[in-house]
Amino acid sequence: MKGKLLEVKELVTDFTTDRGTFHVVDRISFDVEYGETVGLVGESGSGKSITSLSILGLIKPPGRIAGGSVLFEGDELTGKSPKEMGRIRGREMSMIFQEPMTSLNPVLTVGEQIAETVRLHQGLSSKEAMQRAVEMLKKVGIPMAETRVRQYPHQLSGGMRQRVMIAIALSCSPKLLIADEPTTALDVTIQAQILELMKSLNQNDGTGILLVTHDLGVVAEMCKKVIVMYAGQIVEQGPAYDIFRNPLHPYTEALLKSIP
Ligand code: ADP
Ligand code: MG
Repeated sequence: MKGKLLEVKELVTDFTTDRGTFHVVDRISFDVEYGETVGLVGESGSGKSITSLSILGLIKPPGRIAGGSVLFEGDELTGKSPKEMGRIRGREMSMIFQEPMTSLNPVLTVGEQIAETVRLHQGLSSKEAMQRAVEMLKKVGIPMAETRVRQYPHQLSGGMRQRVMIAIALSCSPKLLIADEPTTALDVTIQAQILELMKSLNQNDGTGILLVTHDLGVVAEMCKKVIVMYAGQIVEQGPAYDIFRNPLHPYTEALLKSIP
């Protein structure tokens, strides 16, 4: 399917501190098309995570969306109730964050955690939900899924826990996955496996992916389109091939030089 899955238009997100109100995200506009993997890059503090959270409706005071709009499949998200946004996050768009920032519940087995998500959003019976949990673990490449599904998070490696987080995020077959630094805390081999997994999701299921990273190497490997953020603004965006060959903004040039 072609067309716009996500449209961000002139989005502004503010934070108010005792020093004043700041545009942390400052009038940014970009699209993600159905089935596209788009890289959102920028140095630490440039506003990538706040952009992700704004799209997902997860900005809490002292932050607030101060302007612009976010459309998902043409439907305006800004201004929707928290309950409605919760429903959309469960069914239509999903997210994974940097491990170990995203945490699994230590007292539930990984199977229970996946099953709970699908039960909640898809009304499956407990037995069906557990079967789905095993399927999801297989899908994200966890060996011996039938055994792992009964284990607790501490019995898994960091890489496996991040795969479980991905399994939870994908259990509702979202149309859009927002992955915020999903591999940053993982070692290089596991990083490569997680990226492979996201690639296959994109290719096989047509999941649209907004991949947030400070690592241009990851973008070069994964994304046809790239958005470069600097100090809350988008300084350039376009086909990755063009931006890598001919960066227009000095900041992008500096970022490119940092790739080993
Ligand atoms: P990135 O993900 O690109 O590293 P963030 O989106 O997390 O950057 O942060 C962007 C800016 O927003 C930073 O300058 C940060 O200081 C500011 N910021 C984030 N959270 C808060 C908060 N709770 N209160 C005030 N400022 C915040
Ligand atoms: Mg961040």
